[in-house]
Amino acid sequence: MVDTAPDRTKGLDLRNRDHRIQLLPPEEARKIAAGEVIDRPAALVREFLDNAIDAGGEQIEVLIEEGGGRRTEVIDDGAGMGRDDLGLCWLTHATSKIRSLDDLASAETLGFRGEALAAAAAVARLEILTSTDGREAWQLEVGPGKTEPRIEQARRKKGTSVRALGLFDTIPARKRFLKREGTEALLCRQALIDKALVLPERSFRFTQDGKLKTWLPAVPGLKERFTQCLLDSPEGNFLHEIQAVGAGFSVTLVIGGPELYRNDRRQQYVFANRRRIQDYGLLQALEYGVQGWFPNGTHPVGAVYVEIDPALADFNIHPAKREVRFADPGAIHHVITQTLRDFTHHAGNSNPAHQTASVYNPAGGEYGDRHAGALAIAALLDQKPAFAPLPGRDAVEPTAYQAGDRDRSFAVAEASPQYGGIRLAGRVFDLFLLVEAGDKLLIIDQHAAHERILYNAFLSKPIPKQELLVPLPFSTAGADEDRFLSSHREDLARLGIIIEEDEDNWRIAALPANWKLGDAETVKEILELRTAGENMAERWAATLSCHAAIKDGDYLDDSAALALAEEALSLPQPRCPHGRPVWTTLTKENLYRAVHRL
Ligand code: ADP
Ligand code: MG
Repeated sequence: MVDTAPDRTKGLDLRNRDHRIQLLPPEEARKIAAGEVIDRPAALVREFLDNAIDAGGEQIEVLIEEGGGRRTEVIDDGAGMGRDDLGLCWLTHATSKIRSLDDLASAETLGFRGEALAAAAAVARLEILTSTDGREAWQLEVGPGKTEPRIEQARRKKGTSVRALGLFDTIPARKRFLKREGTEALLCRQALIDKALVLPERSFRFTQDGKLKTWLPAVPGLKERFTQCLLDSPEGNFLHEIQAVGAGFSVTLVIGGPELYRNDRRQQYVFANRRRIQDYGLLQALEYGVQGWFPNGTHPVGAVYVEIDPALADFNIHPAKREVRFADPGAIHHVITQTLRDFTHHAGNSNPAHQTASVYNPAGGEYGDRHAGALAIAALLDQKPAFAPLPGRDAVEPTAYQAGDRDRSFAVAEASPQYGGIRLAGRVFDLFLLVEAGDKLLIIDQHAAHERILYNAFLSKPIPKQELLVPLPFSTAGADEDRFLSSHREDLARLGIIIEEDEDNWRIAALPANWKLGDAETVKEILELRTAGENMAERWAATLSCHAAIKDGDYLDDSAALALAEEALSLPQPRCPHGRPVWTTLTKENLYRAVHRL
């Protein structure tokens, strides 16, 4: 050995190490085990989402701060937990999903190991707020080193919020391995996409550092969800959805035609029983299946969804369930390749997108529908020129759009956007979405559009309210205001405001859910309703929607922007609650004229 070479064994000091076996203290053992399940914020997102999905949540929301390291929270409207279950859920091997190893063979849930919450509590502060019925709610707080959680009564509508705070704060060695915040945030978003791709009928939202980044309203099927998550909407026209079955399993393939070729394989996904898995073999099957249909050296976009009898697959070989062992992987491989070969053989003519639709998608008359959608939008545009005279506020008739409103709000998005009629062309000035529709360029004010959509929703259904943990006492300026409050208590309740009389004082007991204003402003807004007279509901809906709508400068990703644009374009009254138009247009003809091409 050369003198100058460092002695690599020194740091390890093997000779002097204590070789006796010792049982790790439970707390240390938990932290080590937790590392297998929770290695980064995205793992929290994945596990919490699994739980939200298993609990039947339909509107699921992920919030992260500082790449998830500071806060990772998943909110659902699922079954919730009672007081006793809440007290148990954070313990290792606490699960409501299987009772014995035998149950594994038939487990339909995403979770079953009862490890995730325990692991989260070992590496972060864990707060869970939950209610099974919206009447009784409980909050639990537990964290690294705690053996007794704190459980208190709380308020919440039905469902659960699970929040991890300060991930790895007590384990600096782990914290150092985290990547830049932006990268961790991307991984968190990807964890959400991995879930959303499989569950098109549920809606997902992703908010990063207070900004809504991804909004995926419910859509009718896998193909639409794939488009929403990963493609520009016109590209969605070149996606195909194909079904195949084998012994004990079925496969759904969502695959892009050669029009959508990619130079890498990043937009290829494999799922088994709704879990995204890493399975090189099945991706290979996808590639073999489309050989000859794609230009050499290019790759398809697509997803393979395998639904398999749980008895024919073992999901319990990886703590994060990223791998599956199939009893007969060759059979699945064969079905995928063969189905795709048949499909591409039929599709091999000049216009695969259109031709194959009728061959393989008899149920989906979607090309016709899309066309109709585009026509409807075009008709709408012709009907409602953007520069029509501004109606006064009186011209806004709530009843007219109550009937026609599609009953969708930001938080409650069920209807399926119809893609294909319009194309998102970009965003400008931190405010406008640019949308190409036929021979028009639509310039949509995102705040105004969203405000109007929310306004309609607030007027068309009861405003959900949230009781305050501590009622807010306030006093009025005089008898006029007192009279207003006592005589309008029921009207106010319909608006989500519960006012109680307290000796010679007033207090607010409940406010609309997600109310954000401070105490003084809240009181002021409520007392100002007095001046609205008959139009109290409209005034209040305008106030709520103004505060809840996305703001100038908020960045919506493509699918969220497109969904918002679609909805804005189908508004019966495309004006914000203050009367400003929601969008304006530039026609192709005008543009051509402007540069003297006509
Ligand atoms: P697992 O999902 O494997 O059962 P977890 O540690 O992830 O284990 O969760 C433990 C238990 O806590 C679950 O079995 C479930 O009963 C309950 N739980 C966790 N999250 C939720 C949620 N969002 N809604 C309702 N129950 C939940
Ligand atoms: Mg779980």
